[in-house]
Amino acid sequence: MTDSLIDPPQISEHPAESEAERSTEGIQTETLQSIQALPATAKTVMSGMRPTGKLHLGHYMGVLRNWVSLQEQYPCFFMVADWHALTTKYDDTDSLKDNILDMALDWLAAGIDPGKSTMYVQSAIPEEAELHLLFSMITPAKWVQTDPTLKDMVAMLHEDLSYGLLGYPILQTVDILCVRAGLVPVGKDQLAHLEISRDIARRFNHIYKTDLFVEPRPLLTETPLLIGLDGRKMGKSYNNAIFLSDSADETLKKVKTAITDPARVKRTDPGDPQNCEVVYKYYEAFAPLAAQNLAAEECRTATRGCMDCKKTLAEFINEAMAPMRERRALYASDRAQVEQILREGGEKARETCQETLRKVKDVMKLF
Ligand code: SF4
Repeated sequence: MTDSLIDPPQISEHPAESEAERSTEGIQTETLQSIQALPATAKTVMSGMRPTGKLHLGHYMGVLRNWVSLQEQYPCFFMVADWHALTTKYDDTDSLKDNILDMALDWLAAGIDPGKSTMYVQSAIPEEAELHLLFSMITPAKWVQTDPTLKDMVAMLHEDLSYGLLGYPILQTVDILCVRAGLVPVGKDQLAHLEISRDIARRFNHIYKTDLFVEPRPLLTETPLLIGLDGRKMGKSYNNAIFLSDSADETLKKVKTAITDPARVKRTDPGDPQNCEVVYKYYEAFAPLAAQNLAAEECRTATRGCMDCKKTLAEFINEAMAPMRERRALYASDRAQVEQILREGGEKARETCQETLRKVKDVMKLF
């Protein structure tokens, strides 16, 4: 992270053309001070998620909590990336609509406020498809082939790469530039994923001698990784996640299954919170400091049993989730309202995208 002021976007004579040139070295992540110095047009935030269904606490701690705080500071576009879901799940669309609504419900439950943020579905913006085609024309194929976003996805794929998936990094760029966002929240490990978007923006501006696009900047977010209750990565398929839609009882039941310090076999064995990689880590995420310290002390002296420790933890988690559950219940009882929020968000995002596309066609001198 740097605290230097951000230079205005450069129009390069020779836009970077190799993977090496497109390293993350040049990326400047933003501090409050540097963001304040950005022009107003560069302060729009854009982020999105594939609609994979109900979200869990890992999504909340890793992404949504940050979005909720960002919407207090910047104009924000949050997109349900249903076209991106099709790049790998094109033959599995039966639950797509339900997944979109479930995910939107979880966003609202987490505190995304449609009065502050624009929530929308990618496929409601046909202008994105047109911009994708135009960006495809100007993007060297090798940029796409070597893009880390694509590499990561191909590594998980059990079949041949489709044409749609090959275009994933370009579509991701369109998502950001279509709403002319200048800030993209990313984790440290995703910094390289933004490079192609910066390169395409720079290349477009260079070729058509314009300054239409600002190069999107990463808004680095330090989020604690919340692992699953069994110690593996939290995920639906591992059956080790607490969902935002889980009740207090379901949460307690799940927390009771969490792994603890494996060296603490008997109730009378003193434990080590640092070896308790799930329960104690969750204490650090959800319990106040005094409660963390008390749990650690009573663990070390064997004055607290693991089951009691988990019950207390479940209370802290449930306390943190109570306002989310309340909001979720409210919206879940009126799914038509959720659809309406997405529709209205789509109209708002579309207006911006239409304007972007008009300008793009203008500078490209299209008919
Ligand atoms: S008492 Fe709590 S912190 Fe210690 S091992 Fe058991 S669950 Fe973990």
